[in-house]
Parts: sequence; C-alpha cells; structure tokens
Amino acid sequence: MEILVCARRVPDTSENEIELNAAGNDIERDELVYSVNEADNYAVEEALQIRDRVGGNVTVVTVDGEDGEEILRRQLAMGANQSVLISDDAFNCSDGKGVAAILKAFVDKGHYDLILTGVQADDGAAQVGGMLAAMLDYPFASLVNSIAVEDGKLRVSREIEGGNREINEIDLPCVLSIQTGINEPRYVGMRGIRQVASVLIPNLAILTGWGPDFDLVCKSLTSSFCEVWKVASQDLAYPNAEVVRQALVRVLPPDNIVLVPHDHFGIDLSPGLSIKLNSAFVSDVLAIEGVEGNLLKLVRQELGGQVSTHVQCDISSGAVINVRPGAFKAQPTAVASGVVLDRSSGVGTLATRRRYLETIVAEAGDVDITRHSLLVSIGRGIQEKDNIVLAEELAEILGAAVSCSRPVVDAKWMAKSRQVGSSGKTVKPKVYMACGISGAFQHLAGIKGSPFLIAINKNPKAPIFQVADVGIVDDLLEFLPELTNKAREFRGVAAK
Ligand SMILES: Cc1cc2nc3c(=O)[nH]c(=O)nc-3n(C[C@H](O)[C@H](O)[C@H](O)COP(=O)(O)OP(=O)(O)OC[C@H]3O[C@@H](n4cnc5c(N)ncnc54)[C@H](O)[C@@H]3O)c2cc1C
Repeated sequence: MEILVCARRVPDTSENEIELNAAGNDIERDELVYSVNEADNYAVEEALQIRDRVGGNVTVVTVDGEDGEEILRRQLAMGANQSVLISDDAFNCSDGKGVAAILKAFVDKGHYDLILTGVQADDGAAQVGGMLAAMLDYPFASLVNSIAVEDGKLRVSREIEGGNREINEIDLPCVLSIQTGINEPRYVGMRGIRQVASVLIPNLAILTGWGPDFDLVCKSLTSSFCEVWKVASQDLAYPNAEVVRQALVRVLPPDNIVLVPHDHFGIDLSPGLSIKLNSAFVSDVLAIEGVEGNLLKLVRQELGGQVSTHVQCDISSGAVINVRPGAFKAQPTAVASGVVLDRSSGVGTLATRRRYLETIVAEAGDVDITRHSLLVSIGRGIQEKDNIVLAEELAEILGAAVSCSRPVVDAKWMAKSRQVGSSGKTVKPKVYMACGISGAFQHLAGIKGSPFLIAINKNPKAPIFQVADVGIVDDLLEFLPELTNKAREFRGVAAK
C-alpha cells in the first residue's frame, strides 16, 4: 500500500513562551523552537505500522521552507521510505486551503492509496485533510483512532463525543485525519536523526535517451527519486554531450542544482552546461558540507588527492556540480516511490556540429590483467622504463602479472592493455601491489572486489595509504629487489 503522510512542524509549546510581535499581527517567531506537530507524529507511526503489516511504502510530505527538512529527517529516522519537501517562496503564508491545494497538486503527480494527516496542527484549524480529500474527490474520515485493512478496504474507528467510537468502512484511495493516542509513536533519538542527516532528500532525475529499454530504465529510477523526467528523442540515442546539453538547457527548471557524475560523460557535458544555464560550476566534488544562505559548501581534492579544498559556491542562479563516482554511498534500500513524467515535447529539434560515429574497443593485449588474482602494479614511481624489470622479476616469482597506472602507458613504457583505471581496465584481483602509485581516484576506480592492497610509496602522505591494507614507506627501487630475493629464498629458487 502506498501511504502518504502530510506532516508539518509547529512552534513547540513546551519549549517556547509564545508572545505577540510588536505589530500585534502574529506571534514573535524569531528564536522559536519547532517540533513535529503532535498529531502528525501519530499519523506517521500509524502509516509505518500499516506498511509493516500489509507492505508498501510510506512517504512523508511537508510544505515548508528549508527548515522543514529537519522534520523530514526525523520521519526518515522513524522509518519512512522517503520524504518530500515542497518549498517555494510563493507558498509562504499559505492558509489551510492553500496548503491543501499544494498537496493536491503533489498527490496528482503520484499514486497513493491512503493519505494521512494529523487531526489538527497545534497552530492550525483541523482543515487540511478534509479540504484535500474534497479537492481530490476521495472519501474522508476525521478523528480516526484505529485502522484495520480488510479486503482492499479500511475499517476505521472515529472518536466521537463521550468517549464513544464510530466504526466506518471506507474505500481506497481515501484521506484520514489521525487523532492523537491512536498508537505509541516510536522514539527516535538524536543518534537516529544524525544517521539520516546525510541523506539528501531526493528530488528529480532527468534521463535522456531513446530505444526499447528506455522506459524500463526510467521506471527503475523511481525507487530513488520522487520525479523522473523522461526526455526521449532519437537524437539522444547515443549520449553525445553536445546534443544532451542542448536538450537539458530546454527542459531543466531554472536556478536548480544539477548533479552530474565526474566521469567521461560529465566532464564532456558539465562546464558548457553551466555556461548555457548561467550557473556556477564545481567539478570533482567529494563531499557536500551544507548550505548557508546562497552558499553551497563543497569539498574537492587537489594535487593528486594530497590536499582537500573547501569551496563555497554561490547557488543563487543554480549550479552544475560534478560528483566523483564512488564519493557518496548509494542508499541500500529504496527511498522513493516516484513517478515518470514525459518531458520529451519540450526538447524540439536537436542539431549538433559533433556527431557520434562509432566506439572502438580497446585491444586485448598480450596479458589479460583482468584474469589475474595477483597484480604487481607500477606507477610513475618506477621512474624509467628500464626499471620495469624489477616488477617483472617479482611478478614472475609470485606468479603475478604486471599492471600499471596511466602515466606508465602515456610514457609508452607499457601497453594500454596493462593500464588499471577508469580509462583502462577494471581488475578484480585477490591481492594488488601498488608500487609507486599515488592513489588517484581514476586509478582506484579500476580496482574492484576489495583486494588485499599493499602500497609501496616513498611519500608517507600519498593518498594510496588511505585505502591500503598494508603500507610500506620506502623507495621501491630498493624494496622490490629485496622482496624478490626474499620470495626466491622462500620458494627455494636461485637468483637469475
Ligand atoms: C579522464 C581521466 C582518466 C584517467 N584515467 C586513469 C586510469 O585509467 N588509470 C590511471 O592510473 N590514471 C588515470 N588518470 C590519471 C590519474 O588522474 C593520475 O594522474 C594517475 O593515476 C597517477 O598515476 P601515478 O600514481 O602512477 O603517478 P603519480 O600520481 O605521479 O604518483 C607517483 C607516486 O610514486 C611515488 N614515488 C615516486 N618515486 C618513488 C620511489 N622511488 N619509490 C616509491 N614511491 C615513489 C610518489 O610518491 C607518488 O605517490 C586519468 C585522468 C583523467 C583526467
């Protein structure tokens, strides 16, 4: 069952002394402490319990400014599958009818079997649920104090005068306003809330493409995003960044933050996209520290990963942010039950002065490094071609293959087929010896399967040591021959 709970934050009457403002037309809101509206908290708990009994998803939605996220994180910590903040300056000071109209527009875009609200907000008038139901033309019951799901219908009990209860059967989809006391809302401590503090509230994914599987791909993203915009055109069949950029400029909402992976496609697409959108651009972002006013705080790495740079990016006219692949952990479970919206008609004719012709597959090479369980991998630290023999001798005695980082290939010391990394091969050995390799993310991107990683590097601050299981700070030109000799001794093989 897809359940939507409409929740909001209200001034916490146990924490605040409420006073009128100087003009006498509102309460003094500066310094107020807010918490989730009590009845809404019961509504969320009830939704979670129904979901746990019959399956489905719970989405919590709030109409608020950016501070509303705090409430949504709390509901995520309680166990909601996803949360949605509906925010726009135009919504400020909306009355109950206005909020109901905003929520209706949101509900129209999705599919919900059951919509719950709290019976009344501490500063409200018990109106949003009933108004929303009428706007949607759904049946409605207020003051609900128990819900049972029976044969695709609900059996609900309503609180009436004198402690009596009125039992109703109600068809789905419907809207119910939940009375306090219906259940015992679970406790969420600060720890739980902090655990979801880094969860970005997912918003919108845009997919450009064409072909028979395109709809399936769009659908697959609805478990991670509230809205998936499908932009289909035959011109977008191959992800040519020139064409994709034109399409995006036509369909992207203004002043948004656009996240793009920092890979061969994102590097091609993003700088120009930011110019066309007249927005800021930050590349290869590793962490997002938060937002302060119009400033988005980001962390990048420079100088081969030895320096972290803290960047403040003005997002008043939006931003394009290239995110380093692997920098953020994907949510292990679905966080949304989004909808696919077809925005293809907004694209129009796409013309390009760069046309995709074909993809040339890399040559196989003499040794297939992807099949070896032990790799002795050399980087720029090997210093010259003649020193490669040191790695080859060690590899021979260990039964390993020699692989390398990109500079070794760029210098034409080894074939491209030996390169590990995002523009080279992806390897999955059991043991990976990184010899004179600094640990750039493009190199590490090619090492999968969490091998036992041994790093030999003369610079103790080399980033490779952050991911190594064993780190050896030494000159590899001295260390490798010694290790080879020890391995020979161990195996009883005479030196050449
Ligand atoms: C789009 C793109 C794609 C890329 N794809 C790849 C890719 O597929 N694979 C890849 O590897 N790179 C790739 N790169 C390059 C990557 O960013 C790094 O520049 C590269 O990985 C660095 O290689 P390295 O570690 O060998 O060299 P460096 O970063 O120069 O590191 C050399 C290391 O050797 C150490 N050293 C020097 N002398 C000695 C010694 N005598 N003994 C011990 N240690 C010593 C140094 O301390 C240093 O840490 C790509 C870059 C871009 C922009």
